[in-house]
Amino acid sequence: MESFQEHYDSMIDAITRYMPGANMELIDKAVNYANEKHKFQKRKDGSPYIIHPLSVAEIVAEMGLDTDAILGALLHDCIEDTDASHDDIAKLFSPTVAELVEGVTKLTRVEFTTHEQEQMENLRKMFMAMSKDIRVVLIKIADRLHNMRTMQYQTPAKQISKSRETMDIYAPLAHRLGMQKLKWELEDIALQYLDPAGYNELMSYLKAHEEQDKAFMNVIQGTIKDRLASVGIHNTTYGRIKHVYSIYRKMKAQNKTLEEMYDLYAFRVIVDSIPDCYNVLGHIHDLFNLVPGRFKDYISTPKPNMYQSLHTTVIGKQGIPFEVQIRTWEMHETAEYGIAAHWKYKQGGQGKGEEKDFEWVRRLLESQQDTDAEDYVNSLKIDMFDDEVFVFTPKGKIVSLPARSTPIDFAYAIHSGVGNSMVGAKVNNRIVNIDSRLSNGDIVEILTSKNSRGPSRDWLTICKSNQARTKIKQWFKKEKREENILHGRSSFEAEMKRLNLPLSSLNHPDLSPQLLQKLSFGSWDDMYAAIGYGGLTATKAVGRIRDDITRSVKTQQDPASVIPVKIVKDDPNAVKSRHAVNGVIVEDIDSCMIKFAKCCTPVPGDDIIGFITKGFGVSIHRCDCPNTSGRFDPKQSGRWVRVHWANEDSQPFETTLELECHTRDGLLLDVASTMSSSRVRVKELSGKDLPEERTIFTIRFEVKDTAELDAVRKRLLNIRDVISTRRGQN
Ligand code: MN
Repeated sequence: MESFQEHYDSMIDAITRYMPGANMELIDKAVNYANEKHKFQKRKDGSPYIIHPLSVAEIVAEMGLDTDAILGALLHDCIEDTDASHDDIAKLFSPTVAELVEGVTKLTRVEFTTHEQEQMENLRKMFMAMSKDIRVVLIKIADRLHNMRTMQYQTPAKQISKSRETMDIYAPLAHRLGMQKLKWELEDIALQYLDPAGYNELMSYLKAHEEQDKAFMNVIQGTIKDRLASVGIHNTTYGRIKHVYSIYRKMKAQNKTLEEMYDLYAFRVIVDSIPDCYNVLGHIHDLFNLVPGRFKDYISTPKPNMYQSLHTTVIGKQGIPFEVQIRTWEMHETAEYGIAAHWKYKQGGQGKGEEKDFEWVRRLLESQQDTDAEDYVNSLKIDMFDDEVFVFTPKGKIVSLPARSTPIDFAYAIHSGVGNSMVGAKVNNRIVNIDSRLSNGDIVEILTSKNSRGPSRDWLTICKSNQARTKIKQWFKKEKREENILHGRSSFEAEMKRLNLPLSSLNHPDLSPQLLQKLSFGSWDDMYAAIGYGGLTATKAVGRIRDDITRSVKTQQDPASVIPVKIVKDDPNAVKSRHAVNGVIVEDIDSCMIKFAKCCTPVPGDDIIGFITKGFGVSIHRCDCPNTSGRFDPKQSGRWVRVHWANEDSQPFETTLELECHTRDGLLLDVASTMSSSRVRVKELSGKDLPEERTIFTIRFEVKDTAELDAVRKRLLNIRDVISTRRGQN
């Protein structure tokens, strides 16, 4: 059983070491208060509960945080486990301390029910977003570290679940905050429970080689120290075995045995200045043989978590490779304690964190996406989860929504069917108004009914997400679509007649797609519906296509352009002509001009058909292009010819995709980076905002065939807020 006094003394030691002027009276008050509140509680090993808060406070002190954080650590379980309230703590200590304790309590209550990789990133973000004050996360990490250190008293099931959580959430957070030392300890303890056999094997190997390792490290350390002493560089140099989990992970990743493991050893040389770092590097490369390709200068290019050092791997006379890390003392503090060290330097160990610091943390987390192509673009986006709230479904799936979202937004984020049949909502198992505001970590359940009459118009002003708003509008639109089309059509046709434009031009196979493209609609019905719904006026619509119609009417009347195509019918006895033009073979026609229809931009793999134009050769359409419907018209059928792909390695084909999206900032960047990482040539990328907060992007690019095209579409659909992709089909 562990004693109170022992832990108390060691905490006080840790505090006085870096903050001699700390308010000890206040700290003692918190110790006594926590002790009194927890007096009937025992730790699993039977020792008094107060040992836990004392140890957490000691870890927080080792991080170098301020007095408020230490008080927060001492009191961190009071609200959760005892009758103490936020108000009590605010009165006895300060509102800030009460906020810290409240924040830790909230994080304690979040249950991590999922281990899906995709969800982890959101969970970590939520964790940060919930904390508001970075000290809350730091206290929570300290709390977890002490719980991991005393995990042997827990049940095996709990050991495993807590270790998983530590690997998934806490260790990566510590890493991102740059706290290497904590991260390593968390990982090593978690590994003990997650793979005891693997851990023990590794440990016994290291134990068996301990003497040998020590001897080796002493020799190298001595060699380095002697050299640096002879040239007068003041330094602290030591060797160590890399931490267990990092060796374990590399072994698994590279499928190697321990004997085959490359650098198990790392040496650190800590010096007083940056020029000394580079001097030391020169001496290391002089003393030992360099392993090529392993030198890294994180001083001139720090890691995103602020880590700085020079790394190099060398081999001595013993033939054993080892890594040398060279850094200044300040870099060393940052490497060990990360953001906490930053806190210490910038805040002088005092005061409350400024908003600017949290910005810095957010940016830090944001800039660490593990992908390459999107990396740069993502680093441009800041404040991302400033505007987000993270909530759970009853099954533990995490959903991210815009800040101040309501259950309505949540319902539509799940599925439009859920939103449209919603009759009520529960948050954390309690019935709430559907316009109540959701908070991070809430568990939201939507109550639906088949008898629901659908969304109400008020919801449009209540909800916060574009997605919900669009889906609600869509519902209203769809419910009355037929009616809208009817009205829209009659006012559109009236406007056409008023300007003396022929209605027949709307059905012209070549002109019709061009007109629809100009209007940004997929079909005439869609456009009529938009007019009927009031999203577009008939005058505006006709105005936009008026010139095109007039021009085309003129061309058709111009006799010079009506040159019949010379068709050479195959002689059935002759060898069938298989002369391909632009990668397409036109049956029964020996050789003619080929062009690809702009309306549907076919690519190899698509079913295609040809249309003999007046004077422009054969125009190739996709069979599913609406403009090919004329082939069933007896008057026109003679002009449609069978064509197919020549299956030859041809040049890439240009095609067009349209993306329908919910309008949001940064979407264009997302689309652009996805295209660039898909490695296709983009000829044109443009966006157009439509009513109802939708944006249509039109992307013209080159692909080999439909397989490549499908791959690109799939990637585009993975972008948040992209609703659908459509082949250009105007
Ligand atoms: Mn605790």
